[in-house]
Amino acid sequence: MAPPEVESKVAPPLVNCAQCEGMLPQGLGEIECVLCGAVCRVSHPPTSEALMEEKVQCPHCMTVVEAGTMDRPTELTCGACGGGFTLTRKMAKVEIQCPSCEANLRIVPKPGKRELTCPGCKSPFNVSF
Ligand SMILES: [Zn+2]
Ligand SMILES: [Zn+2]
Ligand SMILES: [Zn+2]
Repeated sequence: MAPPEVESKVAPPLVNCAQCEGMLPQGLGEIECVLCGAVCRVSHPPTSEALMEEKVQCPHCMTVVEAGTMDRPTELTCGACGGGFTLTRKMAKVEIQCPSCEANLRIVPKPGKRELTCPGCKSPFNVSF
């Protein structure tokens, strides 16, 4: 059986590629730009610290467990009950506006261009990051 998942509350910052200004995949460390292939070093000490020190509740026994690592997703084992669980990454969301009806939509940004359909007025439009 797959271990239960707990979503991290710390989202790495959204950073743009130093070379092409496109959006980089979310994360820290050496991140490869999916648009131009440049490898950018993304460091953000407050986020790294927050990830290391993040405390989450064990889904088995509700004991608070410290992550102790910057990696997400990561497997954690609860010291109290020995149960394992996966701490998953948090995806940052951005708010965009539908060009037709001006509704605000919250989406997980992905690098590059893609077509979305507004859930309100059903009109398709393109977004790029
Ligand atoms: Zn790039
Ligand atoms: Zn536990
Ligand atoms: Zn709309």
